[in-house]
Amino acid sequence: MTQPVFWLNGRITPAAQAQLPLTDHGLLYGDGVFEGIRFYHRRPLRLQPHLERLARSAQALMLELPYSLEALSAAVGELIDAYGETDGYIRLVATRGSGGLGLDPARCDRANLFLIADHLALADESKRREGLRLVTASTRRPGPTTLDPRIKSLNYLNNILAKLEARQAGVDEALLLNPQGYVAEGTAENLFIVRDGGVLTPPVSDGALDGVTRGILLELCAQLDLATQEVSLTPYDVHIADECFLCGTGAELLPVRSVDGRQMAHTPGPVTQRIAQAFKRLIERECAEGAGTAVN
Ligand code: PMP
Repeated sequence: MTQPVFWLNGRITPAAQAQLPLTDHGLLYGDGVFEGIRFYHRRPLRLQPHLERLARSAQALMLELPYSLEALSAAVGELIDAYGETDGYIRLVATRGSGGLGLDPARCDRANLFLIADHLALADESKRREGLRLVTASTRRPGPTTLDPRIKSLNYLNNILAKLEARQAGVDEALLLNPQGYVAEGTAENLFIVRDGGVLTPPVSDGALDGVTRGILLELCAQLDLATQEVSLTPYDVHIADECFLCGTGAELLPVRSVDGRQMAHTPGPVTQRIAQAFKRLIERECAEGAGTAVN
């Protein structure tokens, strides 16, 4: 297995030296932001929207990124070259920096920024074929009055609690609701359902991350002449759906087989399959063919 490659505060760094102080506020308080980016054929998929979301998350937390988005884009290219595999996953993390005890961000002089290139598979092949089983978690996604879920921060504990609930229930993944009881998303994926041929997904204002993959799939649906609606969904809507799937950079596109024991009519359904094929073609188009520059 190819070893991960690390980039820390400006340069590719050997694993043994890729370390941050224990007083980093990312570790002590979860004070930081991150992105997950995939590359195919040595080319990152939709790097710009990922970097722009990172910048928005940092702006929301008043965290000054220590590198420009251009410099980060160059770092991503450097990391892909160093990693050696054609396809992989990049984690980009900016922490508030090292500041000792006490949560005041003013204690931290400068953000720390690191990237890791590695292999990441969120589901094995059989799950990709047969679909995941989900349960609705009792843990809720916080609303915008608590911590706006559009901030991709290092605080993932409610997602982790939901994942633990899924594990305890003996299923693959959890469905998180917002405080009002509407469907938000999975633990690290956006959710779509198909009903009567139409494709529905909750609006990000219902507590979902503004997913880059979600955006791509909505674009593809328009190209495939599939009617889409960003509309509030309850667990009932998901229980009676014809098809359901999750999507994200790590997950890519994962069909869902059942939710709270209710089976989908089809897994993967015909509409899911069309979208999945179009997604594969888009990856080839954007990352393999005509890949003139290192980034898009
Ligand atoms: N929701 C959450 C909570 C996530 O962590 C992710 C993964 N980044 C997603 C949705 C999917 O977003 P994207 O397609 O941008 O990876």
